Amino acid sequence: MINLETPKKFKGLTDQAHQVALEVLRPISRKYDLAEHSYPKELDMLAALIDGLNDSGGSQGAGAAGVKQDVASDEGNRNGSNMASALGVMETCWGDVGLVLSMPRQGLGNSAIAAVANSDQLKRFDGRWAAMAITEPEAGSDSASIRTTAEEDGDHYVLNGEKIYVTAGERAELVVVWASLDRKLGRAAIKSFVVERSNPGMILDRLEHKLGIRASDTAAFRLENCRVPKEDLLGSPDIDMKRSFAGVMKTFDNTRPLVAAMAVGVARASLDRTRELLAEAGVEVDYDRPAHSQSAAAATLLELESDLEAARLMMLQAAWMADNSKPNSLHASMSKAKAGRVGVDISLRCVELCGSLGYDESELLEKWARDAKILDIFEGTQQIQQLIIARLLLKKTSADLK
Ligand SMILES: Cc1cc2nc3c(=O)[nH]c(=O)nc-3n(C[C@H](O)[C@H](O)[C@H](O)COP(=O)(O)OP(=O)(O)OC[C@H]3O[C@@H](n4cnc5c(N)ncnc54)[C@H](O)[C@@H]3O)c2cc1C
Repeated sequence: MINLETPKKFKGLTDQAHQVALEVLRPISRKYDLAEHSYPKELDMLAALIDGLNDSGGSQGAGAAGVKQDVASDEGNRNGSNMASALGVMETCWGDVGLVLSMPRQGLGNSAIAAVANSDQLKRFDGRWAAMAITEPEAGSDSASIRTTAEEDGDHYVLNGEKIYVTAGERAELVVVWASLDRKLGRAAIKSFVVERSNPGMILDRLEHKLGIRASDTAAFRLENCRVPKEDLLGSPDIDMKRSFAGVMKTFDNTRPLVAAMAVGVARASLDRTRELLAEAGVEVDYDRPAHSQSAAAATLLELESDLEAARLMMLQAAWMADNSKPNSLHASMSKAKAGRVGVDISLRCVELCGSLGYDESELLEKWARDAKILDIFEGTQQIQQLIIARLLLKKTSADLK
């Protein structure tokens, strides 16, 4: 049996993350929503604090960098770094998801490195901030169709192509780039490469203007004869026609529960504030009476709370499986699909419940509704998660079910 209560040993971590959300992120939330593309310098101090905690062993990973590779299965039931990261990210996203995505050294590229790097790479890239670049103008949901190439040249690979929508792409120090060693061999030849952001072959084209998460920079790059040392290919350079793509896709088993945790965090922010505003307006929720016997607003709040709880539990299960070496691709996708969907639904319905207060900028509710949408898009859209779930349940390949 899996116990889906939040493990007691993480209480200190979640309390701290909640304080950070309340006292550091919330106060600057609107500022960086309005000042899109300006660097949230307040986060530097916060990142240094997290580094200090990590160095002292006082944290098991409060951010995206905390996700880890499989642990030995004889360790028994474990609540490890995937769970810690998910809980930490959930709490901080209760503060501000855009700012969390801008947290130095906690990028999605850090998760990719933590998930698939060898021990030498783990050591070399430790403490550095890494973004993740998969998406291209002609390859979004179908990540197997990427066109960026990596050709061998002596002790380097030479990368050429275009990458768009790279979260933290301007600010990070490293970018984990997906490229193909041989496009004729299809998806098996796709590998990930760690590219220094300062590499002259990686050229920043522009930053995007967005609906939400405006505190987070979203970059577009060109890779022009970008030379990357061979030892910066993550994982094995061998092209195994059966397993290679599964290797790079494995990153998603760790990152999708994290994105689900972000969605749960932002949705809970909306619900918590809506509950307060409704209480101020005289609407009290009675947890001991059936929803249908209460006011429409109270009944709606109860319905949204149960959706949120379902999403939270699925996310915890997916993170717990990652910590315990249990194959979790199905659960990672289910948790992302559920949390992405209810995150959007809850935050929009909270705007609706609070009427004009929900819509205007005196409250953060309208911002949270804008921020929530991306969590149902990146790391695989709602439709793509459903497709993956269907394939896994029906035992179909990507060629059988498109
Ligand atoms: C703010 C932001 C940040 C991002 N950050 C990153 C990042 O850090 N790194 C990165 O690599 N990418 C990033 N992305 C890209 C993101 O992952 C893609 O936008 C996403 O994968 C969808 O790809 P697309 O936009 O090309 O849409 P498309 O793939 O063109 O999809 C368009 C629509 O069609 C649907 N669809 C597509 N195929 C199917 C199908 N087979 N069946 C049913 N429906 C389907 C999709 O669900 C979607 O609704 C980011 C995007 C944004 C907006």
